[in-house]
Amino acid sequence: MNLLTEPWIPVRLLPAGRPEKITLSRLLCEDGHWELCLPRDDMELAALQMLVCMAQVIFTPKDVGELKQRIVSPMSPEVFDSGCAPFQDWFRLDHPDYPFMQVRGVKAKEFTPMDKLLAGVTGATNSCFVNEPGLAACLCEGCAAIALFNQASNAPSFGGGFKGSLRGGAPVTTLVQGEHLRQTLWLNVLSEDKIIENFPWHQETKKQRPSWIEPLKAGEVVPAQKIGLLRGLFWQPAHIELLASDGEQSCSCCGFVAKRLCDRFNKAKFNYTITDLWPHPHGARIAKVKNGVREEKFVSFTTTAPAWTQLSRFVVQRQIDGRNEGQEPSAVVRQAQGVIKSLRLNIGGYRNNQASIIERRHEIIFLNDGWSSKTGVVHELVGLAIGYRDALNKALFVFSNGFKDAKGSKVKGAGVSVHEVAKEQFYRRTEDTVLDSLASIDFANPAPVLLAMGERLRLLDIELFENSVRPYLNDPELVRTMAISRNTLRKHLKALKPQQDGEE
Ligand SMILES: [Zn+2]
Repeated sequence: MNLLTEPWIPVRLLPAGRPEKITLSRLLCEDGHWELCLPRDDMELAALQMLVCMAQVIFTPKDVGELKQRIVSPMSPEVFDSGCAPFQDWFRLDHPDYPFMQVRGVKAKEFTPMDKLLAGVTGATNSCFVNEPGLAACLCEGCAAIALFNQASNAPSFGGGFKGSLRGGAPVTTLVQGEHLRQTLWLNVLSEDKIIENFPWHQETKKQRPSWIEPLKAGEVVPAQKIGLLRGLFWQPAHIELLASDGEQSCSCCGFVAKRLCDRFNKAKFNYTITDLWPHPHGARIAKVKNGVREEKFVSFTTTAPAWTQLSRFVVQRQIDGRNEGQEPSAVVRQAQGVIKSLRLNIGGYRNNQASIIERRHEIIFLNDGWSSKTGVVHELVGLAIGYRDALNKALFVFSNGFKDAKGSKVKGAGVSVHEVAKEQFYRRTEDTVLDSLASIDFANPAPVLLAMGERLRLLDIELFENSVRPYLNDPELVRTMAISRNTLRKHLKALKPQQDGEE
């Protein structure tokens, strides 16, 4: 199957059309308002990201003007055809010699079932709760291509010596969401000048071919600065060969009947080293200096904290300064600052424990008009909300663990992790408040919304604190600890509240 010419893109017409499969040219050259339509949000995000990568390398807009044109109106079939011409053989899943993102003749002791390619279907203890059984038993070639791309780009490695994606274990992907699929796709394609900003080595690596056409050598050491855009966007860290069988059957992912389905694959690990970090345009990076050495990595979900807690990293650029870490939003989000007014940020990723996926996350966060010139306000708002989380957490930590009094003797705490329980409640109860504040804030005059949000979170902190300590009210041994922890809360809350005239 050729991804450039055949109908593999699972979509439905907005607002409520029936699911169908369309070709890339229908998506890009016609004016239909589509949305992706797959049973899993991570597969939809992967399909979007793969389409973005294809448009990025095949139809790179020469400047922001051309990009804006593409965002607004469909491209002509002539432009589409001439763009695709040099790539006809590169995007064929079943090419006899150079199959898309695969290697022919992979030697493996045994076949691997397709569900291993669908991130998180097996392996994690909770996977049977979040996935329907048999979801990946056999995949049509379109879904197989999406799963192959997702496994290589966004999921942890297969483990046991297999290499992971260019962004590391399980990176968070942040893309810009438009009104419909074609617009969303172009909103995430970098224009040529932005590519050069992000990849200063772009000109020298422009003609580079992907790894399935020009394979890496075993044991090769590759500096990230030698990896071109196309090669990096479609990086395949393992040796994989999809195996398909003929015969009409419905795909266990999208449900469409196909004549040819991938029902197993071969995989083999492959050793190489990449030095430095490749600046993938779809992920935010954080940097800090450790022992005099700058360390940089892509943002991932490492805790149960909701995505908004990391929002500053996703949209606010900050240099490393002494104590604070540096942060760099994804290149596509940075580009969007000059292109769109309000931002709908599409955030997705997995939380993993080595090779197994514990959780998958997918969220859309809306930032009101004016965000792009005032990203500092986002930093402030998120920082304020985190401040209230920490105030509660610190106070209840004291209540849980006790403290040392002035004489240095230990005063006992409740001995139960009430602070952890309260933190989860805080996240659950504040999500709407924080997201509504981001969506409604007047970036030119943020004070009223910040004040209102602060007041709601302050009251919530007090409520959650009192609920947490209530069961211990009659315990004489905890009287002092409770008083001290309540004081801790009061002190931290006071520090968070802006001082007003007449207040002490
Ligand atoms: Zn399918």
